[in-house]
Amino acid sequence: MSTAKLTIDLDALVTNWRSLDAKTNCETAAVVKANGYGIDAGRAGKALAVAGARNFFVAAAEEGIALRRAIGEGPGISVFSGHMEGDTKLLKEFQLTPMLNSLDQLLRHFEALPGHPFGIQLDTGMNRLGMEAGEWAAVAEIALSQRPVLLMSHLACADEPDHPMNAQQLKVFHELTDGIEVPRSLAATGGLLLGQKYHFDLCRPGIGLYGGAPFTEAMPVVTVDLPVIQVRDVVEGETVGYSNTWTAKRPSRIATVAAGYADGLIRAMGSGGIQAFSGQTPCPIVGRVSMDLITVDVTDLEVVPDTLGLLTETQTVDVVAEAAGTIGYEILTSLGQRYARTYKG
Ligand SMILES: *Cc1c(COP(=O)(O)O)cnc(C)c1O
Repeated sequence: MSTAKLTIDLDALVTNWRSLDAKTNCETAAVVKANGYGIDAGRAGKALAVAGARNFFVAAAEEGIALRRAIGEGPGISVFSGHMEGDTKLLKEFQLTPMLNSLDQLLRHFEALPGHPFGIQLDTGMNRLGMEAGEWAAVAEIALSQRPVLLMSHLACADEPDHPMNAQQLKVFHELTDGIEVPRSLAATGGLLLGQKYHFDLCRPGIGLYGGAPFTEAMPVVTVDLPVIQVRDVVEGETVGYSNTWTAKRPSRIATVAAGYADGLIRAMGSGGIQAFSGQTPCPIVGRVSMDLITVDVTDLEVVPDTLGLLTETQTVDVVAEAAGTIGYEILTSLGQRYARTYKG
């Protein structure tokens, strides 16, 4: 079989959730948007619900369908994009809690689903989602009379602990919410790691659960192994791959492995710093990453194995992301549908 293998360690996911939870005295929810950062929102949600997670967050109402089916009736599912036109039926049928972002959404919600749980998202400076201070001042009284279940906001720079934006947003969040008897949430993974001042009543980590920075103690959740399709010898001076970007400086053995940029192993990765692994032994990726294939210099291996590791315990999504000039989030959510997926735990 020439399909690359993606192994997802649900026990590691649960361990990461527990480790993050242990850093706080508040509730720890789980963000499973974008199909659980690419690993499967249903399976991730189920594993975390069994471990004790009581609240989940998705980006759009549609993402709540599969999640609700997987985790059953009990846990809460909240929707960051709020109550959009056309969402009413889904919110009701799948018991999803919209985080209302504007006066328009508030009116839509109260009219379409009176009595249905909702939260309020406030903008504290990121200028992406949520009500601005003025808007909130105008609607707070009427919104609070309908008993929101959560007041939330999101930090723009929480992955940089020393960034002044963190304290600034914290201050604004206090100004907008102090004295209101509704549970509050400000922190995702980065904010959770900033310490207790940022925790309020509920933290909402995403990337840390899946093994990504800035949660440096995370256990890796995703590993990728690529089947070796063919091995060939090249003489000194021969080139490998598109545009002849690599030239053998010595007689070399080249393994061609199955997976490429169509599998989220983005082309920029080929520009250096990333290896394929035979056990612990690194083998340089040579030549361009193509759509379905990568070429690897295996000259120094005594035996070429059936598969080479690309995402491993040490070469994590963050290492690959750094080499490709992106972030772990993008590598994870780009991995795509072509893999043979195995779930552990
Ligand atoms: C994506 C997201 C999160 C989770 O962020 P991580 O950095 O992955 O922990 C939390 N809250 C909001 C509003 C988000 O958009």
